[in-house]
Amino acid sequence: NPQGSSNSQEEKIFVSVRLRPLNEKELARNEASDWECLNNNTIAFNCSQSDRAVVPSSYSFEQVYQEGAKDVILSVLRGINSTIFAYGQTSSGKTYTMTGITECAVADIYGYIDKHKDTEFVLKFSAMEIYNEAVRDLLSSASTQLRLLDDPEKGTVVEKLTETVLRDSNHLHELLSVCEVQRKVGETALNEASSRSHQILRLTIESSAREYGDSEKQSTLAATVNLVDLAGSERSSQALSAGARLKEGSHINRSLLTLGTVIRKLSKKNRHIPYRDSKLTRILHNSLGGNARTAIICTLSPARSHVEQSRNALFFASCAK
Ligand code: ADP
Ligand code: MG
Repeated sequence: NPQGSSNSQEEKIFVSVRLRPLNEKELARNEASDWECLNNNTIAFNCSQSDRAVVPSSYSFEQVYQEGAKDVILSVLRGINSTIFAYGQTSSGKTYTMTGITECAVADIYGYIDKHKDTEFVLKFSAMEIYNEAVRDLLSSASTQLRLLDDPEKGTVVEKLTETVLRDSNHLHELLSVCEVQRKVGETALNEASSRSHQILRLTIESSAREYGDSEKQSTLAATVNLVDLAGSERSSQALSAGARLKEGSHINRSLLTLGTVIRKLSKKNRHIPYRDSKLTRILHNSLGGNARTAIICTLSPARSHVEQSRNALFFASCAK
């Protein structure tokens, strides 16, 4: 059902899996693929019958967006905080997927605004990157690390994070190119690939509608959506499968591991959720759990050489459900 399942309005966490096609390099070296999308709901793994994994899959981009992300975006317009993120190993399609989702989200948001002339909307945009538990502003050329503060009303606040009021979707595209440049600068400075950092694009939508019969009374709604392109999951899955405990160290991504724990505990309705254990989960706290909506897209590479990582991404998807 391309419109999303009928009960999806009540679901707080949507999980989908996206299998990308073999890429040119993989095709050039005759890489085998063990995975196949049988239909909209089933990805099959060929090794043996017992390995058949039945998971929600999404083949076309329209479906990836329609089956979760779109509902999440519509929730934000109704004042509900939310987070959309892509989880998977490096090269599995996280950036590809999040770029597409951002495009669709912006088009939907501006489409909605155009249709609701009786409501005033203010859109604000900010962007940050977390690398090795250091937070950096992607709209600023200063390389200073941003601090997280606890505000009694707002929760965790990223101190001095640039927030820009958006004029229109073209303005957003300009800002996205600024982020791209800042991200590359950071990568070069640290001599590290972006596969180890998390990028968070944040849109805050404020709306105030005049209520009928009372021209003085305004009701204002404000909500935030975080669009998160996560670091590659390869290292943390190795750490997890080795049974290693969560520890600091350049080879283990604390934020990614904590996010996994938070999602797992949320889906099991645990009472204690360890948001405070990492920068990423602190920043996302208001938009994960509680009343918030979350869409998770687990991205898979079909290549045989990536089979362990693909299984890991499916395991993550099954834990989140
Ligand atoms: P990641 O961000 O997870 O490291 P990318 O999004 O950069 O991965 O994707 C790796 C490569 O695969 C890119 O060249 C991208 O264009 C391509 N790709 C990813 N997902 C798809 C897809 N669903 N269909 C076609 N090409 C894809
Ligand atoms: Mg990427």
